Amino acid sequence: MPHTEREELTPKESNQLLLPGSHPPMWNHMDSIGPTGLPHREGVPGCSQEGLPYPSNSSELVLECLQQFKVTGTQLQQIQASLLGSMEQALGGQASPASAVRMLPTYVGSIPHGTEQGDFVVLELGATGASLRVLWVTLMGTGGHRMEPRSQEFVIPPEVMLGPGQQLFDFAAHCLSEFLDALPMGKQGLQLGFSFSFPCHQTGLDRSTLISWTKGFRCSGVEGHDVVQLLRDAIKRHGAYNIDVVAVVNDTVGTMMGCEPGVGPCEVGLVVDTGTNACYMEEARHVAVLDEDRGRVCVSVEWGSFGDDGVLGPMLTTFDHALDRESLNPGAQRFEKMIGGLYLGELVRLVLAHLAQQGVLFGGCTSPALLSRGSILLEHVAEMEDPWAGAARVHALLQDLGLNVGASDVELVQYVCAAVFTRAARLCAAALAAVLSRLQHSREQQILQIAVATGGRVFEQHPRAWGLPGPGPGGTNFRVLLVRVTAEGVKITNQIYSIPENVAQGSGQQLFDHIVDCIVDFQQKQGLSGQSLPLGFTFSFPCRQLGLDQGILLNWTKGFSASDCEGQDIVCLLREAIGRRQAVELNVVAIVNDTVGTMMSCGYEDPRCEVGLIVGTGTNACYMEELRNVAAVAGDSGHMCINMEWGAFGDDGSLGLLRTCFDASVDQASINPGKQSFEKMISGMYLGEIVRHILLHLTSLGVLFRGQQTQRLQTRDIFKTKFLSEIESDSLALRQVRAILEDLGLPLTSDDALMVLEVCQAVSQRAAQLCGAGVAAVVEKIRENRGLEELTVSIGVDGTLYKLHPHFSSLVAATVRELAPRCVVTFLQSEDGSGKGAALVTAVACRLAQMARV
Ligand code: ADP
Repeated sequence: MPHTEREELTPKESNQLLLPGSHPPMWNHMDSIGPTGLPHREGVPGCSQEGLPYPSNSSELVLECLQQFKVTGTQLQQIQASLLGSMEQALGGQASPASAVRMLPTYVGSIPHGTEQGDFVVLELGATGASLRVLWVTLMGTGGHRMEPRSQEFVIPPEVMLGPGQQLFDFAAHCLSEFLDALPMGKQGLQLGFSFSFPCHQTGLDRSTLISWTKGFRCSGVEGHDVVQLLRDAIKRHGAYNIDVVAVVNDTVGTMMGCEPGVGPCEVGLVVDTGTNACYMEEARHVAVLDEDRGRVCVSVEWGSFGDDGVLGPMLTTFDHALDRESLNPGAQRFEKMIGGLYLGELVRLVLAHLAQQGVLFGGCTSPALLSRGSILLEHVAEMEDPWAGAARVHALLQDLGLNVGASDVELVQYVCAAVFTRAARLCAAALAAVLSRLQHSREQQILQIAVATGGRVFEQHPRAWGLPGPGPGGTNFRVLLVRVTAEGVKITNQIYSIPENVAQGSGQQLFDHIVDCIVDFQQKQGLSGQSLPLGFTFSFPCRQLGLDQGILLNWTKGFSASDCEGQDIVCLLREAIGRRQAVELNVVAIVNDTVGTMMSCGYEDPRCEVGLIVGTGTNACYMEELRNVAAVAGDSGHMCINMEWGAFGDDGSLGLLRTCFDASVDQASINPGKQSFEKMISGMYLGEIVRHILLHLTSLGVLFRGQQTQRLQTRDIFKTKFLSEIESDSLALRQVRAILEDLGLPLTSDDALMVLEVCQAVSQRAAQLCGAGVAAVVEKIRENRGLEELTVSIGVDGTLYKLHPHFSSLVAATVRELAPRCVVTFLQSEDGSGKGAALVTAVACRLAQMARV
């Protein structure tokens, strides 16, 4: 260790207040409620119950009503078996006209080899609801099947969705040429794949007859006709391009075919978007209509129509019946209507309207919007059910519907959304299980090793309920490291474990048990089982540290809210968890914040390193302070590392002048409104969101995206902070900026890309300057403490935003030069910073303990 004074590391207490964490509703709360039907009370329309006392047991009434949405394990097994039966019947050609599923061969006979090459235009219709997408796809062949699509989305006007077929196909041809006009490509000999996601009788790779419209489309003169021919005719009428329609597929097939290789053969495609469907590779000899003995063919299950023969009867709720009656195709696509994104918002609306009319929600009042079809969209449901959304956001969404939102309504509405989503996810899983058992059976394999490609907005926007790893906010991984500090240097082995969201926000006991399980797993993998190693715990949340191995958690930040931890000694909680796990010995000797770890690890190489800085998911800093200045700790000489917890700077309003309405929106939607003000203007968890709010505002002013609000841009966290890095990268042409945004489904004009770039620059520049101002204050404080004319100091820095953003680090340095001209500051990027540093702190602690024993 270079510095003896670092041997006592007791960060100062932070000035944060203790507040209980918020606990988002979890669907499993409902498992304990007994089965009952709808609450039968006198329903009075409109607002006539206003003034009546709010029912004290409203949450019970809501849960009782939602009981209808519960599908038992036995029912799921019945669905699986019944769907499998229908699939086999349809394959064998025995299905009746009103048959449950259609099992349509798609004429796709093999999954991609990865060697395919060339440029293709793709037109997607029916995959994403009321919009149409055109893509330019370049298949790179060798080097692993990389696709770099550029795309543009066009909103289909309602009158086109319900008008004459010719108008729809003319609209498609028009969109195609508008898209192609903007590309520097020739006009001749383009090959087009038509992704048409409705039930079709395919009779060849480029011949496909529409059986019936679904998902809100109902254009006349198309059912019973070849859609490829209709598209060809329209392209010809339009006349601008010579395009050959070479293949027609549906979105499930497209999803399956587009799956990256390397995870085993991908032979199932599953889509949950506006509607839902799946496809898989079936042995051709099992498909009666094909009359083919060899090979395989991709079969589109068309499971959306499962249940049209009545097998879902007992599972259908009164709301499902109401939704079906009001739909464009009553009696059809019953399974789809319980799962597809087009219907989930509508189901939630019907339930909320019912509960309001029963006097259980919204003070017994409805609103015109709540009573209008289509006023609640999938995006709203996804957002409201998302526990990250925060009560304020849900409140705002409900108010937008003109509802009178009471204190308990927000949580109850979240229950409703969770119930509808959970049922959809469970039904979808049962159907997938049927497809997988079919595959297993037809391949005669005991164990099936196969990849399932998933696609569609319901998956993308709502991965949590679907049991899939979603993007989620950062900071939910943790690492276990084995660090060997020897004379030759520091050697590190590590493994990353994830903390699932339900654990980060569940009970404290569950969280710490999970951490210990992972440490034990790591020990076993490293062949260290049974050894009692000294453990340093890097714990990067605000703590009042009372000793090297004693730290009281003041409050959770960065998306954590595990219960019964705030106010507790974190080391005790960890030791208790170790105790619960028998036959494990771990010796927790130190608790270290990541800033401190980063400073220590850089300090191992540079003795002038007296500041630690993190700019990743969150932001924070620490520095070496004179002990005499630290009131909370006795002693007058020497130094002590102080964890500043600077993310909370400004929570007293001192940043007021700098705060914009966009900061306020991001703050309101966060799980800790009013807290971590400085952090929310600087760190990776928030910058993308600030940009998104600005883009929404500029769109509403009509300055951006032709004034068209897209659903995607209204989705939280869709604009990642890493996009700022990509967009601001100097090596990127404006054209590539457009490509990034088009990938996000944003309809761009040429000026838009420039404006988005400027927004990103403004947001990241402000973040870097604020961070620089913080650093300047710290180094000036050190200089003044020591009474120096000039201070030379090094800063250890870690965090993905600081390291990967193209300009962040240089802007921080420039700001520090400007604001603290008498300090010569060197920034050292730490490699594996905080882990190595924590090990060093631990090593020092062990040495001190040994000395005490001697
Ligand atoms: P943590 O701070 O949780 O230890 P990191 O230092 O890896 O983890 O920071 C994660 C944060 O970095 C995320 O919030 C993410 O938004 C941001 N991030 C990820 N990639 C980039 C990038 N290329 N440019 C800027 N920020 C990024």
